[in-house]
Parts: sequence; structure tokens; C-alpha cells
Amino acid sequence: MFKFFRVFILLLLLTGVAVGAWRAKTRSVEWNYTLPVNIYPVNADTSAVSAEYLRNLKLVDFKPVEKFMKEEAARYGRDTRASIEVRLHGAILNLPPEPPRSANPLEAIWWSLQMRWWSYRNGETSGPGPQVKLFLLYFDPARYGRLGHSTGLQKGLLGRVNLYASRDMENQNNVVITHEFLHTLGATDKYDLASNLPKYPEGYAIPEQTPRFPQHFAEIMAGRIPVSESQAEIPAGLNETMIGEKTAREINWL
Ligand SMILES: [Zn+2]
Repeated sequence: MFKFFRVFILLLLLTGVAVGAWRAKTRSVEWNYTLPVNIYPVNADTSAVSAEYLRNLKLVDFKPVEKFMKEEAARYGRDTRASIEVRLHGAILNLPPEPPRSANPLEAIWWSLQMRWWSYRNGETSGPGPQVKLFLLYFDPARYGRLGHSTGLQKGLLGRVNLYASRDMENQNNVVITHEFLHTLGATDKYDLASNLPKYPEGYAIPEQTPRFPQHFAEIMAGRIPVSESQAEIPAGLNETMIGEKTAREINWL
């Protein structure tokens, strides 16, 4: 009898966690109020370069993300409530759990749970309602030629984003941050995993353009500007990026 009771309580708790996550997920894209997006910088390589970069980071450096969301929302006929407010927090000293290298779904679930627990412990927020948490891991570009994959999780509304600690990379960093942020709202990738090329039509900012090439903007979830059938360029910043129709639908703007 006691065992049955314990199992019952456990099931009740798990249901509570699942319903809580589902509610946060749904409410984050109701767009009835401005969604807070919390940013926590992390000195991921413990280098002096990253430390110096983090010391000089200001809220204004992330304002283009807010501006981009506001302008794109307006383009889809949404008012200012369909937007976000970026909040910059102090640097975090702990590193978030490393995502699994393998494609094993059980490992991915285990990592997602660990990441959510870590985020709960390390990412402070203020105020009510669902809020997004983005952990920005900065690396010295002189020591890291390539960065690992960034991840945005819709469950838990959190992102683990790898970036370069360089002022020259700031505009492109904001593109990566916005891409991962939109993952937390349920937007999907719109590029081909093998070739990295944007998928047609959903990965094109203006798919109906004639002639089709060269495009001048990147669809944010495709990440690149298709300039020919076989070539795509990295946008210089959010000013060369748009939210396509499919992404707009995924984040409940349409
Ligand atoms: Zn992605």
C-alpha cells in the first residue's frame, strides 16, 4: 500500500513538471506581454581575452536582438507586445553541462534534464511569468578556430550558445543569439544539415524573389544568405537577416 502511494506521489510530481513545462512553452508564444530574455555571459575558456571582453559587455550590445524582434513582429502585423526585453546579468563562473556528442536520444534527454537543473540553479530571474534564459559561452577567437554547436531548448526555455569574445564578431554573435533564442520558442532549423545550404522555400527570406539569386537577406533559422544554387554567405549582422513565414508561424506570429 505504502509503495503504491509513493509511486502515485511520484507520478503526480512528474505530471506537475510536465504540465509546468508545457504551460511555460505555450505561454512564451502567447505574446500577450513582452517576453523577458535573460542573458548570462560565461567565460568558457577562462582566458584573459574572454575575461576582458565580458568585463566590457553592456546591455546596449544586445539591443539589436530586441530591435530585430520588434521590427520583424511589426512586419507580421504584430504590436509591440509581441516582443522581447533583453536583460543582461552578471557573468557566471560555472560551466553548463556539455551536450552529448552522440545522437543517442536517451543521452539527449538526460543532458536536457541536467541542463534544466543547472539553469534553475545558476540563472537567476526576477518577476513573474515564463522567461527565456540564454547562457552565452565566450571563447578567445585566437585559440578557438571553430566553436561547438550551440543549442536552444524549447523545454525549459533555455539556450547554451557558443560565441567569440571579439568586438569584430559582435554583429554575427547577435545573429547566433537570435537563432538560438528562436529555437527556445519552437522555431526549427531551415538549412540542409549535409550542405549547410538554406532549404527552399522555407530557408529563404524572400522565396518569391525573381530572379531567385542572389538573395540579399538570410532567413534567421537558415542562417545564411543564398547567393546561388550552391553558395550561401554568412550575414554580417541582423540587418541582413529576416524571419521567414514558416518561422513566424512556428513562433505563433501568424
Ligand atoms: Zn539551429
